[in-house]
Amino acid sequence: MAVLPLNYMGDKVLRKKAKEVKEVDKELETLIGDMIETMYDKQGVGLAANQVGVARRLIVFDNVGLPYGTEPMVLVNPSIIEAEGKCQGEEGCLSIPELVEVVERAERIKVAGLDRQGQPVELEAEGLAARIIQHEIDHLDGVLFVDRVSPLKRNILVSKWNKIRKELVG
Ligand SMILES: [Zn+2]
Repeated sequence: MAVLPLNYMGDKVLRKKAKEVKEVDKELETLIGDMIETMYDKQGVGLAANQVGVARRLIVFDNVGLPYGTEPMVLVNPSIIEAEGKCQGEEGCLSIPELVEVVERAERIKVAGLDRQGQPVELEAEGLAARIIQHEIDHLDGVLFVDRVSPLKRNILVSKWNKIRKELVG
């Protein structure tokens, strides 16, 4: 396994709509392992494949119901099949380090996809777990959390980010 370099807001791959995974093969298994290692190396709770430069529909996230790092979760071709309620909560993103903002998300969701063996799975999540999954699926559609706040807040975040990005990647 390897820690992969991250893409940051401003990198085109983060704005691409990721492509459906056709087959869960050895190559994908390696990518899954590397993404999990990268997520934990950066102390993240979730990571989408396009954040490491691969525009395919794959996300990993920490099972936040357990102590941090106990159980990495994997969803291939995830889609939200039910969503209920609304809740506000602070979000950050490994691709926009140092910035956080309150974002509205559905409170409870049901998600369908494939597990890391390629078997169909459905899972239900609420609160923080639901928030993380919604954030990661957004990535696969080229959407970042700054797109889900008011235009005023978005402008503030983007101008802060432009300074941070300069120091981070030049
Ligand atoms: Zn993110």
